[in-house]
Amino acid sequence: MNLSLQGIGMTSRRTRERMISRLMEQGITSNKILDVMRDTPRHIFMDEALSSRAYEDTALPIGYNQTISQPYIVAKMTELLLEFGRLKKVLEIGTGCGYQTAVLTQLVDYVYSVERILPLQKKAKTHLSDLKIKNVSFLHSDGGWGWPDYAPYDGILVSAAPSEIPEMLLEQMAIGAVMLIPIGKVGNQELQRVIRTDSGYEVERLEPVSFVPFLSGRD
Ligand code: SAH
Repeated sequence: MNLSLQGIGMTSRRTRERMISRLMEQGITSNKILDVMRDTPRHIFMDEALSSRAYEDTALPIGYNQTISQPYIVAKMTELLLEFGRLKKVLEIGTGCGYQTAVLTQLVDYVYSVERILPLQKKAKTHLSDLKIKNVSFLHSDGGWGWPDYAPYDGILVSAAPSEIPEMLLEQMAIGAVMLIPIGKVGNQELQRVIRTDSGYEVERLEPVSFVPFLSGRD
């Protein structure tokens, strides 16, 4: 176990407990998700200078103009994704530092995670291997293409906001699959849940959210 994993003292345990209480106050009810978030050391996913703030309910910088999603949004999207039951294969777009990935891997059978910024993907890989998480594969690509090799997926979770739902992601959903995706420009985004039915797609418009933009190409 590396140093940052060992450094989980009493303070940090209390801080984590506060994060969980806050999530419950904000309406997160799934005990499974709350347990996973209590046990996942969020501070190892960020630079040391910021790790003392890891359990605050806020998005924090992870470099390359990107942010780690705030705990509430990670919990909420995970809860909405899993509302209809456990999922086998989940595609995640926007690995970032890998925190949401780590949470997902503990709640579904397997996660396929796509990130367009290579150094971020490398960091995420290190964090997940430090945590001994094995049920995940990473791809350095523009997530607008999805990851066709392993499609169709039972769930898709997108952590950056495009102006509309990428066609290729819709195509890579199995019948009955659920997708959580923020849609819209900075300052005017909403979370949407898409369900693929026998005859098409149902779209639910959920709450206002604030994500970094979904960019095309790879860096
Ligand atoms: N859940 C991540 C969120 C990171 S921010 C975390 O908590 O760390 C969103 C991420 O989406 C960024 O890393 C950004 O580089 C990535 N991203 C944006 N557009 C993308 C695209 N088209 N394909 C893949 N990743 C993308």
